[in-house]
Amino acid sequence: MRLAEPPGPATRGTPDASERSSGGADPEEREDLEDLDELEFDPDAVSDPDGPAPRIVAFDIGEVLIDESRVWAVWSGLLGVSPLTFAAVLGAAIVQGEDHHAVFPHVAPNVDWQEFEDEHERRYGGFQEQDLYPDVRPCLSELRSLGFTVVLAGNQPARRTAQLRELELPSDVVITSDELGTHKPDPAFFAEVLRVAGTDDPAEVLYVGDRIDNDVVPAITAGLRSCWLRRGPWGHLQDLPDGIEPDLVLEGLGELPLLLSGWGEDAGRSGGP
Ligand SMILES: [Mg+2]
Repeated sequence: MRLAEPPGPATRGTPDASERSSGGADPEEREDLEDLDELEFDPDAVSDPDGPAPRIVAFDIGEVLIDESRVWAVWSGLLGVSPLTFAAVLGAAIVQGEDHHAVFPHVAPNVDWQEFEDEHERRYGGFQEQDLYPDVRPCLSELRSLGFTVVLAGNQPARRTAQLRELELPSDVVITSDELGTHKPDPAFFAEVLRVAGTDDPAEVLYVGDRIDNDVVPAITAGLRSCWLRRGPWGHLQDLPDGIEPDLVLEGLGELPLLLSGWGEDAGRSGGP
């Protein structure tokens, strides 16, 4: 079953969601991802599972570092839609491989939500300490104390970059798609992650993300290590396509430093940071 066409006029343009989609700015130019098994994947690019442990950990931002609940709660309030209805429609869009933009014409068919973007931003107020998942600071801090290089790199609009830096998270590099000029799942994004991390060996980098389509598959395809963090709407609703095996699948970040420092022992691999 697919979402029925909304009764109102179709909306266009870039949404003010905190994480950009994989499909570009214009929903009408986007190819819906109906089946994750259709994702392009080059098995020859996968790093040797018995290779050395990664020494660089790169984190996606939305639903990995930042709990986006407030983003959507503010939208549901602005559009006069109950949080339950809003969340359910968003979930349906994700399951159907649609962009999160698809939620707007369905929950508010007679409203041009883009006219509310400034008011949304005013009420949301940008990334705040309360939006951080509680395991983020301890995880990043421990990784750095263990000698790992920590990179924060995700799809984010320009206005979020300064907000993220103001949180002063324990990290070596903070960079967003707007600054890089490329966004996930484009392979160029992951090439840029390597560049800012100071390595030309993708196997040295573990990319931690919540989305199969934007994070896990393109990271593996680019030769990086991959950790699928199963939290947030995408993390709960997406499934791994056949043949895709992240190095790690976690439900939180609490265990990550221990798993990385014991990479060789637990996973039959050798080496350290
Ligand atoms: Mg994310």
